[in-house]
Amino acid sequence: MVNKSIFSKIIDREIPAQIVYETDQVIVIKDIKPIAPIHYLIIPKIAVLDMTDVRLDGALSAHMVAAVQHLAAQLSGDQSFNILVNNGQSAGQVVMHLHWHFISGKNLYQNGFGL
Ligand code: 5GP
Repeated sequence: MVNKSIFSKIIDREIPAQIVYETDQVIVIKDIKPIAPIHYLIIPKIAVLDMTDVRLDGALSAHMVAAVQHLAAQLSGDQSFNILVNNGQSAGQVVMHLHWHFISGKNLYQNGFGL
């Protein structure tokens, strides 16, 4: 594939990553620059660009949510977490291969960030 994303290279084991969960549809890796004690990336194995690129007639969304639930079940102590998606360059997306940030162990709202 032309312009293979860094995540496709990780999925294809061309570059290393710390894999914490994997199914036939989804892989979860540790973020290389974590912003919290737990910072994982939930990544579909097919090269979907972003949220607008997800086909709704397939089961990918359900597999992504199943990965969230799996990770949540592994949390010890505080069960709280954030799911964060940067969708599009202006929204901060750097890797153009859909991924959901799974973040836990830090209150992202403590330093002035708000919604
Ligand atoms: P984005 O800004 O696209 O939502 O987030 C991309 C994320 O991918 C960043 O948090 C960045 O640290 C992470 N990342 C970029 N390259 C690599 C890599 O080669 N390995 C891993 N494990 N994470 C990466």
